[in-house]
Amino acid sequence: MAQEDIFKKLVAHCKEYGYVFPSSEIYDGLGAVYDYGQYGVELKNNIKKYWWDSMVLLHENIVGLDSAIFMHPTIWKASGHVDAFNDPLIDNRDSKKRYRADVLIEEQLEKLDEKREKEVEKARSRFGEKFDEALYRSTNPRVVEITEKYDLLHKRFVDAMAGPDLAELRQIIVDNEIVCPVSGTKNWTDVRQFNLMFATEIGSTSDGALKIYLRPETAQGIFVNFLNVQKSGRMKIPFGIAQIGKAFRNEIVARQFIFRMREFEQMEMQFFVRPGTELEWFGKWKEARMKWHRALGFGNENYRFHDHDKLAHYANAATDIEYKFPFGFKEVEGIHSRTDFDLRQHQEFSGKKMQYFDPELNESYTPYVIETSIGVDRMFLQVMAASYYEEDLSKDGVPDSRVVLRLPSVLAPVKLAVLPLVRKDGLPDISRKIIDGLKFDFNCQYDEKDSIGKRYRRQDAIGTPYCITIDYQTAEDETVTIRYRDSMLQERVPIAQLRSIIADKVSMQEQLKKL
Ligand code: ATP
Repeated sequence: MAQEDIFKKLVAHCKEYGYVFPSSEIYDGLGAVYDYGQYGVELKNNIKKYWWDSMVLLHENIVGLDSAIFMHPTIWKASGHVDAFNDPLIDNRDSKKRYRADVLIEEQLEKLDEKREKEVEKARSRFGEKFDEALYRSTNPRVVEITEKYDLLHKRFVDAMAGPDLAELRQIIVDNEIVCPVSGTKNWTDVRQFNLMFATEIGSTSDGALKIYLRPETAQGIFVNFLNVQKSGRMKIPFGIAQIGKAFRNEIVARQFIFRMREFEQMEMQFFVRPGTELEWFGKWKEARMKWHRALGFGNENYRFHDHDKLAHYANAATDIEYKFPFGFKEVEGIHSRTDFDLRQHQEFSGKKMQYFDPELNESYTPYVIETSIGVDRMFLQVMAASYYEEDLSKDGVPDSRVVLRLPSVLAPVKLAVLPLVRKDGLPDISRKIIDGLKFDFNCQYDEKDSIGKRYRRQDAIGTPYCITIDYQTAEDETVTIRYRDSMLQERVPIAQLRSIIADKVSMQEQLKKL
């Protein structure tokens, strides 16, 4: 099945099984805003706990923070968001659709890259073991031609974005004959800048309302509290401040479900270090964050770093951790070496000193900062995309299939379902008793409706790793059948052993020990 079809099915699955609903659906929805259902909220909470514990629990020198969404508007002047948090927009006059000019060009670059890789793959299967990839890449006329085209376009793009030179961005689109995906025409408007921040007002208008913004990132809440935390927590550099919270961006190209939303949640950690040591720490955090992703077991080959060659004005190193989504490798997390830019800016705009006295060096300085920034929702989508499987279970000519969410047990919303074989003869009572004994440790679900086969399928679709079936034998010898989601194997075990069988596999502690 085509990857796009799988993605569509995943989106439908999220709605059907209570993971993600379109916001305000009965009013026809609100673009790029979503609500999390009964299972979605559990998965989201588990992702957040995995991140939070990996930062705050495992590091003595990282503490948490929960700063307000509303902040003084000057913060966004100082951070550069008022003047520079813009996307370059272009409209197609025929379809009346609006696009990000940079995204249109990036997609063109991706197409060239795919074309080139296809040529290389073709040659690899043609030449087999004798294939000299480096030689082929540097000498094959077709590959060389595509590479030259790619490099030229890439250079023009990077230069145009550096300004940004809006006329040049449009010219690149025209010169590369990029067409509107909807109308198929090249009838483009000029490129304009569009600020992504949502504005609102605080206070009553009679005594002068103040224009404020919904924060577009959580990081600034950390920077402006840097001294509060450092002093009240007697923190010594190097140390970090972690925060999970909502962020808002008026995204123009809001496609791909919860990949790009207008209201979303971020998990950000700012790590304050001595000037001159930042690149060493950048390297350490790069590795630590990649390990966190890979420890979920979705396959190391599905992750890669994408180092930025065009750095933001405040950064001296930056990379993205990308995951292979059904629509290609895309950013899940950004890691940035932000220098002392933010603290210096806030010092200048607030007039308050944002410095740290280093007792070992006996001097004061503005710390440098390494940032790790990941979207909860994007991570949620990554986990769902990696876990969604459609399996053919046909046997001896009898067609059968199932949809299963192979969620890591530690993240699964429901850890076990307790299912009485029939809803009579005391089996429901035994089931309830088992749940009463386990509910303080695990999120349990009781289900007595429909045949046992249907109930298994339903739990597979939710991603429940264990199903416990209670039958007539249970009443006699206190044993139950435990069914494993991924293998579908079943075994008979004593009720008394359930906790120990399940505990290790779903435990956050065990997951954290992998880091
Ligand atoms: P992109 O290039 O995809 O717009 P970005 O580079 O602007 O992302 P950052 O500002 O570095 O993203 O934000 C850090 C993380 O926050 C991203 O890696 C992503 O996981 C998440 N994120 C950013 N924007 C959105 C959004 N609109 N919807 C959901 N998650 C987002």
